[in-house]
This record gives sequence, structure tokens and C-alpha cells, in this order.
Amino acid sequence: MRILVVEDEPKLAATLRQGLQEQGYAADIAYDGEEGLALAEIIRYDLIVLDLMLPKLDGVELCRRLRAQRQTVPVLMLTARDAIDDRVKGLDAGADDYLVKPFVLRELLARVRALLRRNSASRDALLRAGDIELDPASREVRRGGIPVMLTSKEYALLEYFMRNPNRVLSRGQIAEHIWGMDFDAVSNVVNVYVCYLRRKLGDHRAPHLLQTIRGVGYQLKAPSA
Ligand code: CA
Repeated sequence: MRILVVEDEPKLAATLRQGLQEQGYAADIAYDGEEGLALAEIIRYDLIVLDLMLPKLDGVELCRRLRAQRQTVPVLMLTARDAIDDRVKGLDAGADDYLVKPFVLRELLARVRALLRRNSASRDALLRAGDIELDPASREVRRGGIPVMLTSKEYALLEYFMRNPNRVLSRGQIAEHIWGMDFDAVSNVVNVYVCYLRRKLGDHRAPHLLQTIRGVGYQLKAPSA
């Protein structure tokens, strides 16, 4: 397990690294947001401990950029006491959990363990919606037990829907998640890919599993099991 610590206070960064290493994790330190983002883009970390107040690029923006690149690495953010706005912004930007400074190392390590556990269990678990099955480990998709061949973008799109069942996803959200671009550039591409996906899944007849929500986007209607 390799963990990135993005923290500009050298003493705290060193304490965190030592604490993580004592638990058997590999730990790298970045002292500002730009360095943190650069490392996270190169190395596949299992988790990122992310301070919010950072020089050059703050933690919220760093997290937002990672999520825009479809990086699902768990992020534990560190915030100042009473900074509720920061926490809300951080969670909205895609952080998974937060810890308020000052904190006790033991609690940070417990949260790290919990996030790693949650992530490994959920990332590889078979996803189901109706009679569609998606196996994130092998990237195989079946409908009614019959394999469905998808391109990598179609697969990414279906996985995104299946990880967010019954949630209305706007075209903008989809575009940012799958293509890392804003809505205007690729809104039509989203429609086209949903169309491809429906065809390959044999979902062209109503009622669609992939439903169009007029004026907003799409929703994967997953019948409750
Ligand atoms: Ca700081």
C-alpha cells in the first residue's frame, strides 16, 4: 500500500510519514498542491492524505482535478478546526473523509484503514443492475448472462452509471467524469455514447434501464433486487 501525504507543515508531514511507515505503508510527501497533483498523476496511490490549506494549489482544487481525471483514489482531507465551509467544499470536490486538526495519529491511522478497506471491497465487487452484471476486476459485462463487448469509453460510462444507480447524472457530470472535459465541448458525445450503450445492451426498447431525464441527463433505473 502506497500513500501520498500532501502537507506543507514539515513537522506534521514527517510525523505522518513515520506513523504510516510504522504501520507498513509506503509514504511519500508533497509539500505543496502542485507537487501533490504531479505525483498523484504519475503514481497510482492507494490513498491520499490531503491538507486543504496548501501553497500553489489548495487541497479542494487538487481533489477536484483528480476526480475530473477519473481518479478514484480515496482522499482523506485535513481541515482546520471549525472550518465547516472547507469541509463541505472538500467533500463536494470528491474527498471521502475528513479529519479536523489537531488530531491524534491513532485516529488518522484508523480512518486510513477504514478507507482502504472500503475501497478494496467496493472497487472489485461485482456490480449488478437488473440483469446487467459488470465485473470491475475483469472488466467483463453481461446482460442476462450473455457477454456484451464494449469499447473502453462505453465500459467507463456503464461503470459510472452502475456505481451510481438510480441517481440522475447530468450530461456535464458524465462528460467531466468520462472525458475530463466540460459540458459544452462534449454534450453531444454523451448522447451518442449513451445511444451506443443502449444498443449494445439491447436496451433500445422501453422501459429503458438507461433512462433519459429530459433537460438534465440520464439515470440508470435499477430494479430493486
Ligand atoms: Ca497547511
